Amino acid sequence: MTPCDQTNSTYRDNRWKALTVLTVVCLMAFPLWLHQAVGKDQAIGFVVIDPGHGGIDPGTRSSTGVDEKTIVLAVAKDMVPLLRHDHIKFVLTRDRDKYVSLSDRVQIANRPGDRLLLSIHCDYFQQRGMEGFTVLYAQGASHDSQVAAHLIAAGLIHEGFNCHDVRMDTRRLEVLDKTNCPAVLVELGFMSDPHDLRYLTSQSGRQKLAAGLVRGLKAYLHVTR
Ligand SMILES: [Zn+2]
Repeated sequence: MTPCDQTNSTYRDNRWKALTVLTVVCLMAFPLWLHQAVGKDQAIGFVVIDPGHGGIDPGTRSSTGVDEKTIVLAVAKDMVPLLRHDHIKFVLTRDRDKYVSLSDRVQIANRPGDRLLLSIHCDYFQQRGMEGFTVLYAQGASHDSQVAAHLIAAGLIHEGFNCHDVRMDTRRLEVLDKTNCPAVLVELGFMSDPHDLRYLTSQSGRQKLAAGLVRGLKAYLHVTR
């Protein structure tokens, strides 16, 4: 072997070593790249999850002393892993017990981009006999808002919840009225009803509510994409 051959051989060895290292690095990185690529391709929309009330505004309070603001925040938080699992992009208008004005909630929903606002609340009625969830959309709401309302109701029914109503809101609620994007407001159940209050205040009940809401959102995002 001439010095020249030896140099070439060493060069070839080093080149193969470098190529091998590069291949191993690429193979190690591939699953990460694949995961990111699939996640990006499968992202199917953007939803604004709006747990109502918060901070100084407790919303309705049950006879057992549970605040509406606490229930709706817990359900919104239970939705987070499900939204991530289904590759649905989202933002929460609040992720802790703090006051957010209605105009700030509307402003978040009205930021640029294809969005859907889902505002989450609980009902209360003085007299007994009212139970189940209600899904509302604004007067003069877009077709997409109405589709979202019905698909979210279907998602909750699929999880076994009773539907009280799916209808147009007559109170001119700011979060529905002032948003430019499709918007729905869900009253998850009546805190005045013992049966509804049981599922609203149990972890398993709230997780099922979260599953029903995400099921509905996913269906909506698929039909409107
Ligand atoms: Zn409320």
